[in-house]
Amino acid sequence: MGPLVVVDRINKHFGDLHVLKDISTTVAKGEVVVVIGPSGSGKSTLCRAINRLETIDSGTITIDGKVLPSEGAELARLRADVGMVFQSFNLFAHKTILENVTLAPMKVRRLSKKDAESRGMEMLDRVGVANQAGKMPAQLSGGQQQRVAIARSLAMEPKLILLDEPTSALDPEMINEVLDVMVGLAKDGMTMLVVTHEMGFARKAADRVLFMADGMIEEEATPEKFFTDPQSPRAQDFLSKVL
Ligand code: ADP
Ligand code: MG
Repeated sequence: MGPLVVVDRINKHFGDLHVLKDISTTVAKGEVVVVIGPSGSGKSTLCRAINRLETIDSGTITIDGKVLPSEGAELARLRADVGMVFQSFNLFAHKTILENVTLAPMKVRRLSKKDAESRGMEMLDRVGVANQAGKMPAQLSGGQQQRVAIARSLAMEPKLILLDEPTSALDPEMINEVLDVMVGLAKDGMTMLVVTHEMGFARKAADRVLFMADGMIEEEATPEKFFTDPQSPRAQDFLSKVL
């Protein structure tokens, strides 16, 4: 069986700006890959490309053996298998917490309301916010909202979850409650690609670290290797600033 995600020589431009430069990598089933690197290096664009929120100019992205098409029903199907959690939680403001986690499973997965609600409650429980199910997003703290966003992703039973700086918008005291949920998912075998500046999380949960700089994967290593013995000058420089 091949890797769950294969990114093969993808390129992306925004106008004259070459944002992803011949990027290739893979993510195995159950693997936790942490993407780090300076601001503007292309981390978000890579995530968005994998979920086809962004088109690519060349190269291919294969998810579970199927090449992502650029549009159409097949794309919608494949995209439903990829969860995405953003820095800004993006909950539906006018829906309850439970509705937030049941909507897509009913619409896309065709679950009955009853089944979607029982699965939704299970996922809210998994991230520790089941007791908030009847509330509106604005009534929850940032950390709670982000945990709901993770539960909403999980409710679709994705093959892979992409998390793009999921704790960057949070007050410091709420960061750990979200990281703890992510560590739990990693331990449960969820396949994850996580963009984060939380080096503690990378050390604890990552199977592999991708260091991006200037649209390229500059270095790819286990966290032990990367944090103790970075090879490229750019990675050394980056680590000297963040550690
Ligand atoms: P990172 O997430 O590593 O900070 P991004 O992937 O967000 O980097 O951005 C990479 C580069 O692409 C940056 O120079 C950014 O300004 C540029 N960029 C990102 N999105 C767009 C867009 N929609 N239009 C034009 N330029 C963009
Ligand atoms: Mg980003």
